[in-house]
Amino acid sequence: MIIREELCTGCLDCLPYCPMSAIVHDEATGLAKIVEDECVECGVCYRARVCATDAVFPQPLEWPRTLRMEFSDPSSPYLSPVFEHRTIARFQRDLRGMDRRRLLDREGEELTISGRGTIEMKMNDVMGRYKRGQAGVAAEIGRPGVGARFRDVEKVARALTTAGVKFEPDNPLTDLMTDVRTGALLPEILNEKVLSCIIEFTVPLASLPRVLSALRDVSSQIDTVFAVDLISVVEEDGSVPTVPVVEAMGLTPSIAGKTNVGLGRPLAPLD
Ligand code: SF4
Ligand code: SF4
Repeated sequence: MIIREELCTGCLDCLPYCPMSAIVHDEATGLAKIVEDECVECGVCYRARVCATDAVFPQPLEWPRTLRMEFSDPSSPYLSPVFEHRTIARFQRDLRGMDRRRLLDREGEELTISGRGTIEMKMNDVMGRYKRGQAGVAAEIGRPGVGARFRDVEKVARALTTAGVKFEPDNPLTDLMTDVRTGALLPEILNEKVLSCIIEFTVPLASLPRVLSALRDVSSQIDTVFAVDLISVVEEDGSVPTVPVVEAMGLTPSIAGKTNVGLGRPLAPLD
């Protein structure tokens, strides 16, 4: 995002709209300016239509900065799944400098997903991805006000592989890995900053303590925050099988239920 100096009056009305505090008052000019490295291209300032002179304007983005928008702007699709992971080098080459929104129009919306991860955790009653005896895990890295650099995301991913994790293949972040066995990400994206992104995977319940230990250890090595979502099938007696595991580690879980009734689709087997 940019602020066009010739249109800016310096009213500063746009400053409070940025969730990353990337819009600042430039004392030298008296105008507002956007700190490019802190802007995650979420589009909030633009969509809010706060600027009376339309000085706030989306700039054309090139790879890898395009990832900022794809992971931070909920209205922006993640385009990489149009391509196979094994052809990611070609994907980068093809999209360099290209208008990705125009590409989306050409390829069709059904080929895209958002950068915020897969939808199955909210749809488990009909998708059946998480079975009894398993825990689905989503590490949500970064939050508005803090954001996350991919270099920190990579640290978390690497730590998880030491706990034996296999990443969800349809997750956008997995697509950006050069090696899913180590969690290594494409080197050119490591300094890119996004509002947040999600690492997703499924593990047997017995492996959950190891995974949570790895996450706890790496939490002190990164310059951002993360939340850990645990998804599990509720037992017949109504208990949540992940709760005792979390409590045994001295952590306090917050229980929330998300149920999608399927809207006519058959319920999936969960055993
Ligand atoms: S709202 Fe528009 S005119 Fe006012 S400071 Fe921001 S960019 Fe400049
Ligand atoms: S696009 Fe988002 S992060 Fe960038 S200046 Fe606008 S509100 Fe801030």
